[in-house]
Amino acid sequence: MVLQRDFKEGSIVMDRTEYFKQYYSRPEVKARRKKTGKKWRENNPERMRELVNNWEREHPEKSRNWKLNNPEKIKAEKIVTNHHIPLGEFCEACPEDDVRSAVDHHHFDYAYAEQFVSCCRACHNFLNRTTSEVRTC
Ligand SMILES: [Zn+2]
Repeated sequence: MVLQRDFKEGSIVMDRTEYFKQYYSRPEVKARRKKTGKKWRENNPERMRELVNNWEREHPEKSRNWKLNNPEKIKAEKIVTNHHIPLGEFCEACPEDDVRSAVDHHHFDYAYAEQFVSCCRACHNFLNRTTSEVRTC
């Protein structure tokens, strides 16, 4: 038996699902969850890898389509993993030196898969947004 609790928002009694839907859509809650989620993902890279692997296993078609649509990314990733190219200890793109740990490789051009910078997740996202037009393949 599933217990359904109601929550009060002002004088309106609402369904639990609707309450949390509204709660999680608040801008301050969204901003806090984004910040804490990001921190958690950076602190738990093994767990994130596991979650991504689970997602790929549960969504084989989407995963296969992404791989078919992004062969250059797969090739670059394989070169890095097959050659055991280690990440640098710290992010090479951060404005502050030697502060944030490197967790990703960023390729400026997938045609040169062995050329990359070690960077933190924030810088990797920034570089992907700002340098995507520069890539040639
Ligand atoms: Zn960085």
